[in-house]
Amino acid sequence: MLKGIGASPGIGIGRVFLIREHNLSYTPRQIEDVQAELGRLREAIEGFCTAARAKADKIEQNVGEKEAEILRGHVLMIQDPYMAGEIEKLIEGGQCAESALEAICDMFINVFSSAEDDLTNQRAADVRDVKEGILRILLGLEETDISDAPPNTVLVVKELTPSMTAGIRKENVVGIITEMGSKTSHSAILARALEIPAVLSVENAVQVLADKQAVIIDGAVGSVIPDPELEQVTEYTRLRDEFIKERKALGRFIGRDTKTADGRRVELVANIGNPEDAQKALDCDAEGVGLFRTEFLFMDKASLPSEEEQLEAYKKAALIMKGRPVIIRTLDIGGDKEIPYLGLQKEENPFLGFRAVRFCLKRPDVYKPQLRALLRASAFGDVRIMIPLVTCVEEVTEVKALIKECMEELDSEQKKYDPGIKIGVMMETSASAAIADLLAKEADFFSIGTNDLTQYTMCVDRGNASVSYLYSHYNPAVLRSIKRIIECGKQEGVPVGMCGEAAADALLIPLLISFGLDEYSVSPTAVLSTRKAISLWSKKDADALAQRVMELKTEKEVLACLRAVSYTHLR
Ligand code: PEP
Ligand code: MG
Repeated sequence: MLKGIGASPGIGIGRVFLIREHNLSYTPRQIEDVQAELGRLREAIEGFCTAARAKADKIEQNVGEKEAEILRGHVLMIQDPYMAGEIEKLIEGGQCAESALEAICDMFINVFSSAEDDLTNQRAADVRDVKEGILRILLGLEETDISDAPPNTVLVVKELTPSMTAGIRKENVVGIITEMGSKTSHSAILARALEIPAVLSVENAVQVLADKQAVIIDGAVGSVIPDPELEQVTEYTRLRDEFIKERKALGRFIGRDTKTADGRRVELVANIGNPEDAQKALDCDAEGVGLFRTEFLFMDKASLPSEEEQLEAYKKAALIMKGRPVIIRTLDIGGDKEIPYLGLQKEENPFLGFRAVRFCLKRPDVYKPQLRALLRASAFGDVRIMIPLVTCVEEVTEVKALIKECMEELDSEQKKYDPGIKIGVMMETSASAAIADLLAKEADFFSIGTNDLTQYTMCVDRGNASVSYLYSHYNPAVLRSIKRIIECGKQEGVPVGMCGEAAADALLIPLLISFGLDEYSVSPTAVLSTRKAISLWSKKDADALAQRVMELKTEKEVLACLRAVSYTHLR
């Protein structure tokens, strides 16, 4: 099995179609007739631009406008007076068109590829694409025509360039394998837009795989199986069909607003555990981050991460999200989440013990660097701070006081932050539900953590199998708490979200619509199914169902009613 980066999900089963690179070598010449050489260059550029525009139109029809813009960008790039002017200067100095073009393009490629960010790196791929396109014309070489690829083709190529993509016939190409590219490269963006499974950065793929060789690729995990066994083909065929079926049903929700059947807009964001997941969330079409669980930054290490290390992580998520909201929860350790180097004592009832905000307020040496890192990250996007496991008002006011202290320190150090940063409360204890009216006066937003709210409301350890029959958010006690929290938030104009697993529960969603939940935060892979579930209910229908459900006495009745009504509603 070969490994690479899973860049476009889905399973591809087919045969390799190897695209070997053209030999673009030439012998540099000293030219005498400058005007004739300038004419050659201009003609080649003109030919390149005409072809690129035609391909862009084709991509616009087959893939989308955004993707076509990549090729239109190539036209603008080579028509840029500076770039064209520099190439012409070299020709005027006696170089042939090929050498002049290559020298100037390589200069840009070097500058762009030495940058740290993916986007600038991507510009290097664009310049390379332009350079090779024009060189090919100057050398009189034909471009490989991918539109000749037979059905069940798995394209194997060093780098999938946007210009190549124009020739892809979606009905024939079932997979893409490249030697270069990352999740955010054009190859990945185009593969995802075309909905073709893709595995990128597979080392030496062009050498290792042979033309017409049978191959399976899994674009979600980034694996390539050359010459699969019969059982593997059977198993992957089943997985592929399942994936296609699911995608068909959900695909139409990509890029759509999240709204109810009667057009009420709500926010649909994602839960993440590290900054890299922010990209995954975006890829899954999340509108922001509703819960960044920061514990993993602390758990993955043998010692406390420094303020700078934390800043890097939070800043990265903020930058990936480009101004979309990123709610970052402060350290929520204790209970089931242990961090050995913090020296927490073993407790009889760790879930009811010295944990989360209780611990943090007693350990400013741990908490302040995190708060300072969060504040500093807020200079790079819409970062918001969320406090976990709140049970009383003082916890919120104390955290706010500590944040103020951190702001003053940052002021004197002349470090930037957002002075209006929003500070929210995670509503996940029965105490917080009971004083939701009081907490609403202190918080900029609420986010309901149903995983813990269920545990603490029902007095049931969420990991204990013998009491798991009680661990259900359909219990009237939990539903009443959720409803109350939303109502209290609304009364004070505080937006209320939900980041527990219940936010993605299609059965519960009509109740959440009826209660007036503003934001749903779910795992990235549940974004589209949640958008779909929300779109199926109007407020009127949701209200009618909520009224019935809230009169029921038992969890069993609630679940049976939600199942029955959803079943008939969704037919
Ligand atoms: C919750 O309690 O609902 C929640 C989202 O937080 P965690 O699962 O991390 O405790
Ligand atoms: Mg929790």
